[in-house]
Parts: sequence; C-alpha cells; structure tokens
Amino acid sequence: MWGGASALTPTEDLARDILAELVAMDTSPAGDTGRTKESADRLAAMLKRAGFPEADVQVLGLNPGDGNLIARYRSRRPKQKPVLLIAHLDAVSASPFTWDTNPLQLVEKEGYYYGRGTRDIKGGVAMLVANFIRLRAEGFRPNRDLILLFTADEEYSGGNVDWLLKEHRPLIDAAFALNTDAGQVDLLPDGRPEAFGVQTAEKIYASFALEASSPGGHSSRPGPDNAIYKVARALARVEQFRFPRDLNETARVYFERWAAMAPPELAPGARALGAARLDDPAIDTVEESPYLNALIRTTCVATQLRGGSAENSLPERARAVVNCRILPQSSPAAVETVLRDLVAADGVTVAPVAPAPVGPPSPLDPRVLGPIEAVAGEMWPGIPLLPEMSPGATDGVFLRGAGIPTYGVGAVPEDPDDDTSHAPNERIRIEAFHQAMEFWYRLTKRLAE
Ligand SMILES: [Zn+2]
Repeated sequence: MWGGASALTPTEDLARDILAELVAMDTSPAGDTGRTKESADRLAAMLKRAGFPEADVQVLGLNPGDGNLIARYRSRRPKQKPVLLIAHLDAVSASPFTWDTNPLQLVEKEGYYYGRGTRDIKGGVAMLVANFIRLRAEGFRPNRDLILLFTADEEYSGGNVDWLLKEHRPLIDAAFALNTDAGQVDLLPDGRPEAFGVQTAEKIYASFALEASSPGGHSSRPGPDNAIYKVARALARVEQFRFPRDLNETARVYFERWAAMAPPELAPGARALGAARLDDPAIDTVEESPYLNALIRTTCVATQLRGGSAENSLPERARAVVNCRILPQSSPAAVETVLRDLVAADGVTVAPVAPAPVGPPSPLDPRVLGPIEAVAGEMWPGIPLLPEMSPGATDGVFLRGAGIPTYGVGAVPEDPDDDTSHAPNERIRIEAFHQAMEFWYRLTKRLAE
C-alpha cells in the first residue's frame, strides 16, 4: 500500500503507524459502540509500553463505549500548573460510496494521507502521542506536568469533556490548554505561508424555536388569526434585524493584523476595526463578507420551518428554528431577550432549543502566545500570528467555560480551500503533518523547559 521510498524519521514513522491504527477504527456513530474506548485503550497500552507509569495513563468514559484518554507526563518538581494538550478520538461518519479510497484505511497517495479522521483530528492525536514517546525516549524532564486529553464525543455533544471537568477535574486541571483541532498555518494558493492562525475564541452556538398557534378550522373560511402568518412576520423581522457591532480582543487584534494583508478595498475597514472605531463607514464594506461580518456581531438566521397539518386546514401551529452564533462576550439569555422583544408583537413565543455551552474568549496572554509566536517564527519565518474566533463549538468551549483558557494551534500548513474535514476523501498533506508534529514537539518542550 505504501508508495515511494520511505525516508521518515522514527517519530514520523511511529506517527504514521498510530494514525493508521486510529483510522482503521470507525469512531463515528456508524461504528460499533466502544470504538473510542478501543482507540483510547490501544493508545494507553502504547504509552505504557513506552515507559509512562500505569497510574499516569487512564481511560475513562461517561457512557459505556466512551473512551477518553488522559496521560500525564509528570514533572519531578513542578514549578507551574500543567499544560493540557487536547484532541478527540471520535470522527464523523464516512460513506464509502462517496470516497475514492476506503475511508477506514490509511492510504498514502500523491503526498497525502487519506482516511476518515486524518485531518479531523486523528492526525492530531497521532502526532501528540508520537511526540510524548519521543520526548520520553530522549529523557526530557518537564518542569511542569504535561497532560494529554483525547475525548470521545467532540463531534456530537462534548458531553465527555463537560463530565470530566465536573467529575474528574484534578486529572485535567491546567494553567491553559492547547488544542490541535483549531488554528492552522494559512497557505497562499502558491504555497507560501501567510499567517499563523490561533483560535482564541469561539462563538456560542444556540438555536431558538419561534412558535405560534391559532384556532385552526376549515381553510374555506379563513379568519385573521393564522399561526403561519405570525411566524412568517416574525421571521421577516429576524431577517431585517442586525445585532450591533461588538468587538472582543480576539476580533480587534485579528483585524488590526489582518489589515496589512487584506485586499485594498477591505483594508480601510479592517484598520478602523483594528482601532476599534466602530462607527467608521469603511466597515460597511468589510461586513459584506459573511465570514468577516460574523466576527463583528452576533448572527441569527432561520434554518428550519414547519407548520400546518393539511393543505385544506387552517394551521393550529407553526414553528421556525433560528440558529444563532453569539459573540462569546454576550450570552444566550441576552440574545433570547432581543429575539423575544423583536417578535412579541407578532404573537410568537421564543424558547431555546437546547442548553448552549458558553466559554469566554481566551486572553491574548503573552506567556502562552509568546512561545507559540517564537516557535512559529522558527518554522515559518516572518508570518504574523492571527488570533481567530471560530463559529463554534469544539471541546474548547467547555474548557474555557470552566476557567481553562484554550488556544487552538493546529499548525497544519494548508490552503484553506484544501480543508477536507468532514468531507469525502478527507486527507492531510504528509509534509504538513510532519511540520505540524515538529511544531508541537518544539512548543511542548519550550513550555515545559
Ligand atoms: Zn474535530
């Protein structure tokens, strides 16, 4: 299966073998229950064989079949709180019919590793484990504990990390966390690195149900009270409404630094945002980009609609779902109040569909970002570090919400258009995989030396 002459270092070779094992286990909901447990158990055995003490390597889970791996690289004389390094063991489902290769087999082709999870984020798991084994083999003595945490259900609920924080906090408590599953080195189409993205904030994901009722009856005798019209009027208001501009530290610094690389027509608006001049008319142009607009404000958009029971009956009920991505400095309760006030006159109720996990932006702390910037500068000289807020939500939101600032520093160099996470033919460029692994090796050392 493996093509070409192999000139891998022992760590690269080990990481490939780990990745092949992880990809072969279907850890999506389509897989047998217990596959994250099996993945976690196998990684635990590997770390123990490499010399990590039994007591420092644990597998535990919220539900039967869930496996979260927690492994501690212990310092003899810790001088600071631990650093937590995270990724997740589960993956989204893959239909073999939409793939050119077997999604459950690591295939090397044209300079890429193919397979479900290679990019999101079994590759991240493999590189962290290979680095832990490398550091131990080299006799590295950290001056603070380093903790690996690989979770079981990031793609579906984040219930396991929430549970670990509530029930097993001492196992994973840390000064801060570094996440392989966010942040990247942005490559230009010609392959040159442009920026080192660090995810420091996530928007809050929250859906609200807008509901109305009416008496119903025969559609040949319509009256004025109609649940469908009420919900339609409410949705028209939601469409017209814009939440105010509100920049957090991450978004402001993002625009400040991005202004230098922005297209000319967006640069004035980006500079205004970077200087927190929120009433500058140049910002209007920036807001025409849905991506950039979402960094500036909370957004809410209609995503589902249901109502009526028969084509010849007046509706008794109508319901729409509005999905909001809320700025992390705001709250679901504040947005619910805004929506309720907005549609109150239409006779429409507003209620959250599910509780929303909430975590504040992580501070742009030089004790964390300094070492990240230094290692990024060694490997990709001259590119700026860009703090990023993603639309949410990863396990990071639970950690941030529990007071553990979290930084996504995936460090995989990639053209943003080549990101195949959750897609058919998911893949990671082999050279990029090795570079990210080297970045994590150097960063881990630097933070604990
Ligand atoms: Zn992921």
